[in-house]
Amino acid sequence: MAQPRARVEVTETNVRIIRKRSKISGWGVYAAEPINKNKRIVRYGGEKISAAEADRREVKYQKKGQIWCFTLNRRWFRDGNVDGTTARFINHSCKGNCYSEVVGDIVWIRASKNIPKGDELSYDYNTEGEAGMRCRCHPECTNKI
Ligand SMILES: [Zn+2]
Repeated sequence: MAQPRARVEVTETNVRIIRKRSKISGWGVYAAEPINKNKRIVRYGGEKISAAEADRREVKYQKKGQIWCFTLNRRWFRDGNVDGTTARFINHSCKGNCYSEVVGDIVWIRASKNIPKGDELSYDYNTEGEAGMRCRCHPECTNKI
């Protein structure tokens, strides 16, 4: 089987990131250069859908162990699996080095600390265990995402 190749990308806020196999789960996204605290790194893109539609799709995604729908507010979500950006490959971590910021219907992933080149990016999905999946941010983590 062919190894999927790492892919470097310059985001719309001019940050160099790399998508490659993650130590946490599946694909991950890594800093390809040092990133300053609070920098907007990448937009969480995806189709804007209603809460009802997000409920339908999440059932399907969760069966495959995936979480794609990002909550904008009570009525709207973004589905990173449809027209998404590289941000959809950033893993959850209970103590990550990033955080999400919702501005209207735009979602930004921002650095919560100074991130050295080569570190994997991660942030707290704040799903409160809805997906019922075990967190793998470190071997002893017992949280659900
Ligand atoms: Zn965890």
